[in-house]
Amino acid sequence: MALPITLERVSYRYAPNTTPALSDINMVLQSGTCCVILGPTGSGKSTLLHLLAGVLAKHYPESVGEGVLTIGEHRYTPFPEGILFPTVALALQDHYVQISGIRDTTRKEIELTLETLGRDPLRERASIDRLLQQLGIAHLAERKPTALSGGETQRVALATILIANPEIVLLDEPATALDYGAQSRLKLLLQSLRGTSSVVFTDTRIDLPLDVADRFIVLHAGRIQFDGNRRGFLEQLPDLGDLLPVQDWQEAIHEVKGRQDSPLRQRILRAAGLP
Ligand code: ADP
Ligand code: MG
Repeated sequence: MALPITLERVSYRYAPNTTPALSDINMVLQSGTCCVILGPTGSGKSTLLHLLAGVLAKHYPESVGEGVLTIGEHRYTPFPEGILFPTVALALQDHYVQISGIRDTTRKEIELTLETLGRDPLRERASIDRLLQQLGIAHLAERKPTALSGGETQRVALATILIANPEIVLLDEPATALDYGAQSRLKLLLQSLRGTSSVVFTDTRIDLPLDVADRFIVLHAGRIQFDGNRRGFLEQLPDLGDLLPVQDWQEAIHEVKGRQDSPLRQRILRAAGLP
């Protein structure tokens, strides 16, 4: 069962008397939504995901938060003190730190999540195998999880959280180290989660958001500058130029503004449901 998430007047500073990393954030994510958070480096994307995962109060005791976070029936004022896993699971931007380093195979690393939750890995072997297949890492099952490439590690880290069947899946730049094939698999996986889990992910590139997100939020300096559905976002794309400084989006904006037909322009118009 996916859970709705609500943020009301949420602000957050890592330390008192510093510039807020998030300011006056209001948003309602219906359960089953796949939402992408976009924005330049330092705009608050990771902070927002960490806040939703409940890790901020624990990791930054000096920090100052305001507002209300509601996840399902639970109201936190302002933020949860403990980590909300497995209801909420976060794949960190730095995927290497998500590997425990205490297990000698990838399979055992994934089993560790189940053991921590008091679940029997033997009874869930088929689920582990299915997840490994979906992520294209079945061939890594008996390999050492600390000796994998960036893209392999990113997918193993994802498997260690998805095996818990979280209701809310938070992914911080989940495709950074993935090649084209691995990214296509991730798209299918995220599409398969639709309806059963709420997904919130951050990304600086264009492919994953364009193919899987149904809600688009753009942050700048910790504030929401745009919040809307796919069509609204793509229609407004030409005006969002300064807020999406990466090359991918700049090219997309250039194409949408231009009159020439191009594959990218066609793709964006199709994604927006426009003729
Ligand atoms: P993004 O993920 O969009 O790049 P972040 O959420 O990492 O942005 O950062 C938002 C702001 O919070 C930035 O100004 C950043 O410098 C600051 N920040 C991030 N992490 C910390 C931290 N651990 N301590 C203090 N400030 C931080
Ligand atoms: Mg970040």
